Parts: sequence; C-alpha cells; structure tokens
Amino acid sequence: MILDTDNFTQKLLEEKALVEKELATVARRNPENKNDWEPTPNIDERPVERDEVAEKLESFEENIAIARRLEAQLAEVNTALDAIKSGSYGKCSVCGNEIESARLDANPSATTCKAHMK
Ligand SMILES: [Zn+2]
Repeated sequence: MILDTDNFTQKLLEEKALVEKELATVARRNPENKNDWEPTPNIDERPVERDEVAEKLESFEENIAIARRLEAQLAEVNTALDAIKSGSYGKCSVCGNEIESARLDANPSATTCKAHMK
C-alpha cells in the first residue's frame, strides 16, 4: 500500500496550526523552546473579593488542563510529521503492521492500527 503522504502532511499541518491557535488562548510559547507551552494565569487584575480569587484560580486550573491536552495532541501531530519525513509513517507502533487508511483518514496522527487503538 502506498500512502499519499502529501495529503497527510497537509492535513497534519492544518491540524498543527489549529492546535497552536487554540493553545495560544490558554498558554504562551516558551521563547527558548518552541515545543514548550506555559499555561497563562488569568490573574491579571487584583481581585477584590475572596470568591473572585477562587474563581480565577479555578479557571487557571482549567487552562492548565486544556493546555496539557492540546500539548499532547500537538506532540502526536509532530510525531506523525517526523514519521512522514523518516518514512515510517502509517505503521502501527505496537505490531508494526500498516495502519488502515480509513483510520489515518479519520485521524492522521494515529500511531496504532485499529486492533491496537487506545
Ligand atoms: Zn497494531
């Protein structure tokens, strides 16, 4: 099976741009390490009430959770892009078999075949 890697590269780059855009709303990129994102606190104003402090901390925790999830997604996309470059794209990381093309179509950063889906 020959994969249309150009097509997948395109899809992955689109997904990457989208994830980075979302990440930028909850985190900022570390200027020294482009792959490292630091969740940004929402505490920019001095809170007046105690409740406000709790509320802001809570939303910061949400930002951290969202940032972690998006960072993991970004890492998967980058792994897939590296695999395309090195020619190992589309192989299951568990059994080494080719990943079903329908699965890659649905999720271009998939690293396992259907049988080894997490
Ligand atoms: Zn497998």
